[in-house]
Order: sequence, then C-alpha cells, then structure tokens
Amino acid sequence: MDMNRTESLRKRDKAVLWHPFTQMADWEKDEPLVIERGEGNYLFDTDGNRYFDGVSSLWVNLFGHRRKEIDDAVRAQLDTLAHSTFLGLTHPPAIELAEKLLAAAPPGLSRVFYSDNGSTAMEIAIKMAFQYWRQKEGGGKKAAFLTLSEAYHGDTIGSVSAGGIDLFHRIFRPLLFSTRRLPTPHCYRCPYGLSRPSCGLYCADRMEKEVRDAKDHLAAAIVEPLVQGAAGMLMMPEGYLARLRAVTRECGVLLVCDEVATGFGRTGAMFACDHEGVVPDILAVAKGLTGGYLPLAATLTTEEIYRGFLGRYEEFRTFFHGHSYTANPLGCAAALGTLSLFGKEDVLGRVSGLSAAMEKSLASLAAHPNVGDIRQKGLMAGIEIVADRPAKERFPSERKIGQRVARKARERGVIIRPLGDVIVLMPPLSSTEKEIEDLADAAGWAIREVLSAEGPLR
Ligand SMILES: *Cc1c(COP(=O)(O)O)cnc(C)c1O
Repeated sequence: MDMNRTESLRKRDKAVLWHPFTQMADWEKDEPLVIERGEGNYLFDTDGNRYFDGVSSLWVNLFGHRRKEIDDAVRAQLDTLAHSTFLGLTHPPAIELAEKLLAAAPPGLSRVFYSDNGSTAMEIAIKMAFQYWRQKEGGGKKAAFLTLSEAYHGDTIGSVSAGGIDLFHRIFRPLLFSTRRLPTPHCYRCPYGLSRPSCGLYCADRMEKEVRDAKDHLAAAIVEPLVQGAAGMLMMPEGYLARLRAVTRECGVLLVCDEVATGFGRTGAMFACDHEGVVPDILAVAKGLTGGYLPLAATLTTEEIYRGFLGRYEEFRTFFHGHSYTANPLGCAAALGTLSLFGKEDVLGRVSGLSAAMEKSLASLAAHPNVGDIRQKGLMAGIEIVADRPAKERFPSERKIGQRVARKARERGVIIRPLGDVIVLMPPLSSTEKEIEDLADAAGWAIREVLSAEGPLR
C-alpha cells in the first residue's frame, strides 16, 4: 500500500484544514484516517483498510454507500440539470420529491419548504412559526418558544438558541434569543429524581402545566421527538410526545418536531412521530433525506400555516427566506432515489428485525461495571459509560473515555463516534444482522479494553 500517499495527504490536511467539532491541537498530533472509497456499509481508507460505517457517516447514510438506485438517480439528473435557482423558478425533481415526501410524512402536512441542512431546516421552522403568529390576528403576543434542556437543533444562531447543550452553546449566549426551557424528560437521570412507572409520568404533568401557563406567549414548542440524539441518545418516555401534542393543540401553540436525526426509518417507523400517532404543525427533515449523499433539507408544514403567509404583494406577508442552493436538483434526485427504496423494500420491517438483533447483542454489555445505561430506539443506540455505576458518576472529561473507545474500535474495523462518554451505534438500515452483532461486539470489546486499563476515579 502507498503509505507515502496517506502521509502526504495527512500533512496537507493539517496545513490547510479546520475540521468541525474537532480540537485541532489533538488532530495535528493524530494520524487521521483518510477515507477515499465507500461500498455498501463499508468505508475504505487510502491504505486499503476496510471499516464498517457504525454511525452511518454521522447519522446520514441509510442504504449504504454507492447504492445503485441512488447513484443512478443522481447520474441521470447530472445529465439533465445540476442546478437552477428556486427563487421564481421551479423544476421537476423538486416537485416530485415534495409529493413523495408529503405522502410519506404524518398525514395533515401539505407544504414543503426546502433548504440545505438540518440547522437551516430548523432555522426556517422557527422563523415560520414566529412570522405566522405576527401575521395572525390577535397572535402578536405569541413570540416565545418552549424548548427542552439538552436539545440539539443545529449550529446556526437560531437553532442554537432553541438548543440546550451547554457545552456547545454557553459561549454564544449573548447572541442567542432566550426560550422557556423544560427539563429533559429522560429516565436514567430523571430531573425530578423519580423513577418509572411510579412517577406516573410526572415530567409530562409539569410540561402540560408549563404550556397552559405560558400559552398566550408561546409561538411553538420545539422537540426532537422520542430521541434527543446529540444529547447522548436520551429517550423520551413513552406517552410524553402524544401528551405534548394534545396540550399544544388545546392551547393553540404550534408543535415543531425536529426529525433531522430520527426521520426516514431510523427509529423503526418512517418518522419518530408515527410511533405516537403525532402530527406536528412543522416538521424538519435533513440527514437521511438523500440517503447520506448530498446536502438537502426540508421543512414541512400545514395548509393553515402556509395560508397565513398569503396576501397582496405589497402587504409583504411573504416568507423572506431562501438559500442559493434551495431545492438543488441533484439533492432532490438523490432523495427521490432514496425514497424509492422505501417503496421497493420492506425497510421498516427489516429495521424491526435488526433492532431486535441489536438489543440482544447490546444486552451482553449491561453487566460491565462501567456501563451505566444502554438506550435504544430502532437503530439508534447509546451506551453510557460511567465511572461509578450506583452513583451514575461520569469520568472526568480529560480521560476522553468515549473518544478512546471509538478509537480502539477501529482496530476491529469499525468506525464509531461518541458523544462525550456515550458510545453511539447507528448503523445503516442496510446492515445485516451479522454486521450489527459484530458492531456491538466490537464496541463491547473496545469498552472492555479501554476500561480495563483505566485507574480508579480518585
Ligand atoms: C444533526 C442535527 C441537526 C443539524 O443538522 P445539520 O445538517 O448538521 O445542520 C439538527 N437537529 C438534529 C436533531 C440533528 O440531529
């Protein structure tokens, strides 16, 4: 293998690049993998090593790399039109994709507004909800947002405002708008110190009270339905989402669901909302939309909200928002190729079998003294590593346990990326049962290897 080429690429990278969510001082000392090829559920580096894509290329890939149906769709589009503006013009792939998206989405959503990524899809959701109430008779006071602690909705200023991950957001606080924040509904570390089922879903009682008390001021409640992904795969207790929908509807508050991570089968249903029969007023999708091929996002909404923006030109009720690459035709073609696979195969049935296999494989890790919690919904899983299991105490961050486990797993031919000390497993929906077992096995091995070398906490 051409080691010199890899070395040279690493050197050139370190000379000119700045990577996302990366401490570059560490990166400069590291020997990062240089990925040059993908095939099915695997990535190949410049030295010819093969790795299972254990986090679906950061949660975007659904059906593997170089999937024929998606490749063909993008190629055919490339022969027709790569891009034209969507401001004042339209094109066939955007129209067809909007129809297909709405058919797949929870019933009652009827309009699609395109953008490029999850953050902008959420930025649009926030601006749309805000402007809707500004323009609605008697809605002027409804300008606040109800959000969840530890939420993640992206990295732009608006989506950071709606988010609640202190580590990412603290420094930007002076730039952010404030929101009314509810504690994370999450059972492993219940914010109320209760446990299920004796709690009687107290978190939902508190949430309902907050919505009722603040309803005159609330434009919308914003949540990641069922799984707060970036927070560390925190699972919303069953029933919470349905109750949030019921109370927001009762109180005239919009519900914005951010399905950027959970959308397109990842949780075992097409959308996480479907598990509880919930139809939001605004739904944001991105990541899996193009099967992990190209940047494209969409914000779906109802006819009611859409109509709130209609009027004579000079009334300026227009939604003044758009991007140069809004509805990029290549992205739309990739998304059409991706959605066609849901029609061709029983994807959700398959995910149900795979998630059962994953649950079974992960169960064997539960006995490890440093595994505090194993959380899973469909093919989204988090294994939380703790220093002290009864106290649920975390390791100090300088020990970089999560990073070291992920790094170790590479020796078993697996690429994963942790969230702090939560080891995330999010394999493509096209994985086989054997691949899922091997992934869980590699993660378990890496956890044992790293932890066995670890000294006591104090
Ligand atoms: C990843 C993510 C986003 C941001 O999407 P980008 O495409 O990275 O901007 C927003 N919300 C959730 C729930 C996400 O997981």
